[in-house]
Amino acid sequence: MTTTRFAPSPTGFIHVGNLRTALFNHLIARKAGGTFILRIDDTDPERSKEEYVDAIKWDLEWLGLTWDRVERQSDRLDLYHDAADKLREMGRFYEAFETPTELDLKRKKQLNMGRPPVYDRAALALSPSERDALRAERGDGVWRFKLDQERIEWTDGILGDISIDAASVSDPVLIRMDGQILYTLASVVDDTDMGVTHVVRGSDHVTNTATQIQIIRALGGVVPDFAHHSLLTGPQGESLSKRLGTLALRDLREQGVEPEALLSLMARLGSSQPVELRRSIKEIAEGFELDQFGSAPTKFDHEDLYPLTARKLHGLDLAEVQADLDDLGVPVEMAEAFWTVARENITTRRDLADWWGLCLNGAEPLVAEEDVDFVAEAMALLPEGPLDPEDWSKWTSSVKEATGRKGKGLFMPLRKALTGQERGPEMAELLPLLQTIPARKLAKG
Ligand code: GLU
Repeated sequence: MTTTRFAPSPTGFIHVGNLRTALFNHLIARKAGGTFILRIDDTDPERSKEEYVDAIKWDLEWLGLTWDRVERQSDRLDLYHDAADKLREMGRFYEAFETPTELDLKRKKQLNMGRPPVYDRAALALSPSERDALRAERGDGVWRFKLDQERIEWTDGILGDISIDAASVSDPVLIRMDGQILYTLASVVDDTDMGVTHVVRGSDHVTNTATQIQIIRALGGVVPDFAHHSLLTGPQGESLSKRLGTLALRDLREQGVEPEALLSLMARLGSSQPVELRRSIKEIAEGFELDQFGSAPTKFDHEDLYPLTARKLHGLDLAEVQADLDDLGVPVEMAEAFWTVARENITTRRDLADWWGLCLNGAEPLVAEEDVDFVAEAMALLPEGPLDPEDWSKWTSSVKEATGRKGKGLFMPLRKALTGQERGPEMAELLPLLQTIPARKLAKG
């Protein structure tokens, strides 16, 4: 059965880059009627925080990326230690005692000599007594997996055929000096144990995949299908890594981005298919194919989320925004008329507050110098409230008659005087909602 997982480390809030990974894995599982696992990669007790676990779940729920199971790596440490023992018994695991500074020095020397900075396996040449002496002097070492020096090959779901020479990769450290199990091992144990069939993740993991394929084989597991999606860049192709802090899902939500907008964009960006608003995960899953994604870095502009957000909102019924209107305090009897007026004129739900503010308090009139007399005359003709939808045409007809103005020269100054803006809702529908009309004070006489 198709099984995928999204495996965030709870060391921060998830951002648009992580979302791509989560979404692709979710869609693969949903399309196949399979299982989607949320795996919390929390083997680092210092950096992992419970608040981030909660925030990750909240973000995924907001998007509707529901999971069938949650697993936590911190609950599974025994399994990782068992796997480590197995690798030790097989002679594929060795202890190394170099300090970070020593490793750094080795790397610099290699680079100076024009060689790739690959770990030289000096620890493999240690005799048992040398090893004991180092351990006595420095404490426990790190544990490295001994790669077979052959080419590691797989057909990547996005990148196509990949072949990596294991000799160009350092033997990966799987256990740190302080005994902490590292992700490279934990992930492999979990993927095997949980029957994960497809792993989609960012292309920054390609080298990891090469080493993990060897570890999976050493442990007797089945290698899943791997696919590596491109990394996102900013609109100009600039690296997003520094800006990702501001592209957290919680921030986008805060700015009023709708989940469907985010999902619709992320499910198609970087693929050969056009971006269109889809209103459900099911609809999004329908056209989703991994092989339609390219390997080139994918440009992401968060501004693209707003037209999609607006399109979603324009299609909503009153019932779907009732909670927002209640929060703003829109009286029930005005809700329908207010939504009709506001609907086409909002980009995000946050804009509702501005339109409601206009209805309640009116706007500072915007009057061009050449319109001062005209507006004064018009305001004198505006009937006292409460107004109804017919009043707009009655009023503008009488203004037309009195002033001789017509068309844009008639309507635009009135709109600007009443709303303080050049664009906005149908004035006939808006007028009856205006509780206060500051422009009245401009009336002549
Ligand atoms: N915790 C890893 C990460 O966030 C998971 C990578 C993977 O999908 O294997 O990078």
